[in-house]
Amino acid sequence: MNTKKTIVAIVVILAAAALMFILAMIIRGKSDTGTNNRQSESTHSSESTVNGGTPAVSDTSSSQSSTSSVISEPISASSSSSEFSQPKESSDVSASQWTETAADGERYVNTDGIYSRIYAIQDSDAVKQYSLNDKVTVVAKTDTDYFKLEDGTFIHSDYLSENEVIRWTESEASGEYYVNADNVYSRIGAIQGSDTVNQYGINDKVTVTAITDTDYFKLEDGTFIHSDYLSEEEIKIDLESNLPDYASTTANGYTIERICGITYVDGVMIANKTYTLPRDYDPGIQPDAYDAFWEMQSAAEADGISLYIVSGYRSYYDQDAIYARYVDSDGRDAADTYSSRPGHSDHQTGYTFDLNSLEQSFENTPEGIWLAENCARFGFIIRYPKGKDAYTGYMFEPWHVRYIGREKAEAVTASGLSLEEYYGITSDYALCTDE
Ligand SMILES: [Zn+2]
Repeated sequence: MNTKKTIVAIVVILAAAALMFILAMIIRGKSDTGTNNRQSESTHSSESTVNGGTPAVSDTSSSQSSTSSVISEPISASSSSSEFSQPKESSDVSASQWTETAADGERYVNTDGIYSRIYAIQDSDAVKQYSLNDKVTVVAKTDTDYFKLEDGTFIHSDYLSENEVIRWTESEASGEYYVNADNVYSRIGAIQGSDTVNQYGINDKVTVTAITDTDYFKLEDGTFIHSDYLSEEEIKIDLESNLPDYASTTANGYTIERICGITYVDGVMIANKTYTLPRDYDPGIQPDAYDAFWEMQSAAEADGISLYIVSGYRSYYDQDAIYARYVDSDGRDAADTYSSRPGHSDHQTGYTFDLNSLEQSFENTPEGIWLAENCARFGFIIRYPKGKDAYTGYMFEPWHVRYIGREKAEAVTASGLSLEEYYGITSDYALCTDE
């Protein structure tokens, strides 16, 4: 046993010695031929002399990745037989690609979702993710424009700023406000699309502590709600269904009447930007519209055309959530061109279907062409025709059909007019007196 151990030890020592020798040869070969390397090496060593007294760059992790230590490592390695891993590290190309100079202080991450990296070069492995305005302590700067952090990782200087990023300014405001819609969220930032915190319902009372230049109110808990969704007065929930009945005639001489808060023109239920449906009007899909759809669907199928419903009935509250989401992503002005405010949606009538595809290119598909040519026979109209935005209040939607009965659908379609033009009514939030 003892002899075996001795033999093993000798073999190990010999192998180690051989390896040391080979490594020493390689290093020598490198420094003999690498004139350019030496050049940069000496440039760096003068730098590190300058910074020698700065404690910031002399921590352990910095000495490992700095160029000067990389060059000197093999020499010390040859004197210590146990550290075979050192030369391997020193041959790592990435670690020799930057030099560090002293830097210190606090910096703020100026954008969301950036990473610190193990090397001061692009695309090296990510270590930790940071968010906007996270505070970091900088210990060095590299000639590759990275800042080195306390933990030895690197972040590109583009992503660190000396000051916190201010995305809005706050001015004084105070008082009690009421949330004026359902499914309203408070957010961590006073900007569109920032993370949501608490959900509020209509007439929830909140205390405001400031207003921002981005039109958000700041609440006591430090979160923000857009000023569109807060009112000084409580909302009268039953206002819509309490609207008085009336009967009159439209600009084109058709009867217009409001019965229990629902407006009918020529007997056709109207929901557009001028005319609302009550919050609690919740009919589901109207049976006559549904029957008509299936009749149309069979006829289409016989022509080799496949029609299917993508979206049908939507309640006031469904629409409220959908519209709020669009406002959040695109802003209120843009959202108003393609999405309805709650109470104004044609889908709440229960007479409406979105078919097949919510893309304007649907117009030119065989299904879109068939639908435009044939839907009137089954009592449907293309509710928002092309080029009629000014009358309907919405952009062209070749997929959105509305059931008004065969006779009326054929008359409206034959006229080439939108429903609003045909009846002589408006669709304009500014003219809406129902809310
Ligand atoms: Zn639709």
